[in-house]
Amino acid sequence: MTNLQGGALERPAVAVLGGAVAGLAAAERFREFADVTLFERQSYDDKRVNCGEAINEASLVPLEETAENGFLDRVKQFNLEIYATTDRGSEAPITESTIDVGCGYITDRNVIERRWAERLANGEEGPAVDVRDNVNISIERYWDFVKAYDYVVDATGYPSLTTKAANQTNNYTGSMFALNADVRGDFSASLHRPRIVFEGYVGYWWCFPKTETRANVGIGWAGDERPDNYVEAFWNACDRANAPRPDRKDINADTIPQGPNLDPQLTYPEQGVFLVGDAAGIANRYQGEGICQAIRSSYFLARLVQEDHEHEYPQRLYEQMKSEYRLATLMRGVLEETDDVQLVAQVAAAVDGLTVDVVTRHPWRVYQRILQRPRLLTRLVTTPGIRRRLAESYTNRWEYDGTGS
Ligand SMILES: Cc1cc2nc3c(=O)[nH]c(=O)nc-3n(C[C@H](O)[C@H](O)[C@H](O)COP(=O)(O)OP(=O)(O)OC[C@H]3O[C@@H](n4cnc5c(N)ncnc54)[C@H](O)[C@@H]3O)c2cc1C
Repeated sequence: MTNLQGGALERPAVAVLGGAVAGLAAAERFREFADVTLFERQSYDDKRVNCGEAINEASLVPLEETAENGFLDRVKQFNLEIYATTDRGSEAPITESTIDVGCGYITDRNVIERRWAERLANGEEGPAVDVRDNVNISIERYWDFVKAYDYVVDATGYPSLTTKAANQTNNYTGSMFALNADVRGDFSASLHRPRIVFEGYVGYWWCFPKTETRANVGIGWAGDERPDNYVEAFWNACDRANAPRPDRKDINADTIPQGPNLDPQLTYPEQGVFLVGDAAGIANRYQGEGICQAIRSSYFLARLVQEDHEHEYPQRLYEQMKSEYRLATLMRGVLEETDDVQLVAQVAAAVDGLTVDVVTRHPWRVYQRILQRPRLLTRLVTTPGIRRRLAESYTNRWEYDGTGS
């Protein structure tokens, strides 16, 4: 690490803005070589989290995987149910398949974040971090921080404080609009096997049990077609899935961001300022998963800064995310470019039993499964929209193209 004049920095001063998973992960790794102050707008005692709370790689969080730390239901696999349409009676799904999970949990993420913040503040397994919750950083203070600290890590989520300060919030495009809430009921049948339901629209409904009697239910829409009344559509989806309807007052609504925002101008807007997690727009563009992506981006940034390679962050983050973006754009294509739910069902059957990690990040393993099904392959490659997406995904035209343009 060097300062602006090229001299070595002893222990640089780092401000982490935003103390959810990305911010906590940044503080966790930066504290090894820097003096870190973390600012979080909410209080960890009553922090609200707007998320399905499925963590697919729990080992990324440096806490013991116990219920006291917020790790509740150990997931064995996600069950995918595919129906032709929302307009159905007690019809059986066209197909059911499973996606395996390495070390996944449905969590109380607010508990995980509180425990993680305590660990940092108490200096457990490393230097203590100055954790300041209940502090909302304004745009004016943001500029003061940029001047005062050696490094500013913006982990404020979507849209980031950096883009707000620079009046660039239009650099994000909303990808998936989602509603979710915790509900009470009998979830013993789907414990360890969270449900994901596709019903012919671009998006899905989910039920992630936390315990036998409590679950997070949610719904997301990713395409252009949106319901007139989101809450009604959410309730109707719960009814069709035989799950409890959440109270209107408990429902969170949010957008899962989509780039293109890995342009260096955005993730590394000026010397010493970096965006991580949702602030950098790196949640999965197909299924909306973003917790592990957020943690990984912060760990990765800290390593590059420690090794004096910080200027490589945007390009290398992009390279790291590329496979995931590629698969996401193709998977979405099956939903967006065809109205054929049978085709979606065939793709789901083709990836049956693969892990979330493979389905999100390893295109060749997915292609291999599809190659073993000649009729499915023919149907996919004769669909013009999918062919275009395939070409785009391998020429990077759907995303920042690596030249900064
Ligand atoms: C409905 C829904 C369901 C989802 N379900 C899942 C799921 O099941 N699994 C999964 O992996 N991902 C899921 N995601 C995506 C996931 O929630 C995000 O990708 C993840 O939260 C990103 O973490 P982050 O730390 O980057 O940002 P955030 O979680 O958005 O955290 C930003 C933090 O910054 C703080 N902050 C903001 N502004 C300021 C400020 N000015 N000053 C101080 N602090 C500030 C906020 O209070 C917040 O704590 C879901 C998203 C949505 C919307």
